[in-house]
Amino acid sequence: MKRVLSGVQPTGDVTIGNYLGAIKRFVDLQDTTDPYFMIVNLHAWTVPQDPQVLKEKTINLAALYLAVGLDPKKSVIFAQSDVPEHTELTWLLQCIAYFGELGRMIQFKEKSEDKQNVSVGLYTYPVLMAADILIYQADLVPVGEDQKQHLELTRDLAERFNNRFGHTFTVPDPLINEFGARIMGLDDPSKKMSKSAKSPYNRITMMDTPDEIKSKIMKAVTDTDNQIRFDPVNKPGISNLLTIYSLFSGETIPQLEERLAGQGYGTLKKELVEVVVNHLQPIQQRLQQLKKSGEVLDVLRNGAERARAEAAKTVQAAKEKMGLLLG
Ligand code: ATP
Ligand code: MG
Repeated sequence: MKRVLSGVQPTGDVTIGNYLGAIKRFVDLQDTTDPYFMIVNLHAWTVPQDPQVLKEKTINLAALYLAVGLDPKKSVIFAQSDVPEHTELTWLLQCIAYFGELGRMIQFKEKSEDKQNVSVGLYTYPVLMAADILIYQADLVPVGEDQKQHLELTRDLAERFNNRFGHTFTVPDPLINEFGARIMGLDDPSKKMSKSAKSPYNRITMMDTPDEIKSKIMKAVTDTDNQIRFDPVNKPGISNLLTIYSLFSGETIPQLEERLAGQGYGTLKKELVEVVVNHLQPIQQRLQQLKKSGEVLDVLRNGAERARAEAAKTVQAAKEKMGLLLG
């Protein structure tokens, strides 16, 4: 079975972009693969955090993983900070990564824009991500489209290491959906929906109330020609709403276009509110129950133990190749 690895940062509130582009797909993969899903709380520190809030968000995100259907019997679910081998391998990989290649990372450029004090961690973060993946010898990495460049770097580092020191790492393939891999901001469909976007009208979060969902979808930016048609270049706002609608309802884009032909944008938005609310409400209820049950910490503890056993093997192998095991 293919080994799968992915993670989400416990920053901000998880959006339906994270859900459709990543987390929902984790659930689909867990029956047919050997999956590892983490909460990447070390990545969160690439930008300033409140320690108490970070802790809560880490546990909430683990609870969300369970609430959407990840099963700890099928998936190894853990927090990145509980497996110190990730940072150890990061150092080894940093010493074979080039300064220039990290400088080309689009996400670094975007996230450091307009900021005065940018942490070194934000710059080297893609190497930690490479370590996260390579340490489990992952074959496949389900991510949204925004992570494509980081996956390419991961592959380059794995190949470079293997060429220099002999085969050590599996070279992973990204698993990026053709459809829905880039959910756009509701307030600006030229930018991706993000947990960290400034305006709350950029995103629908997994915890939004029906009223919040309604107000955000009703305010979503569209266009003026009032035709419900999928055309991401000329009609990015409507195309984004159709994408979200299709992914939540299972109706295909052509079916939606046909059924809604001649209707106004108001109808599309009203239906979409209902579809999103109906999908999120049972997840939110399960999440509340899980948080009360105290089960989440046990899941994370158990997951970390299983993850560490795998991670330690890879780090041993890498250290041996680099002349760092003396005994
Ligand atoms: P941040 O703004 O803090 O970076 P984020 O929304 O980008 O938050 P991440 O934790 O960085 O979330 O990413 C988690 C996963 O969600 C990744 O696989 C990423 O590719 C995916 N993802 C993020 N945004 C989107 C989006 N708009 N559409 C589809 N997938 C997305
Ligand atoms: Mg991100």
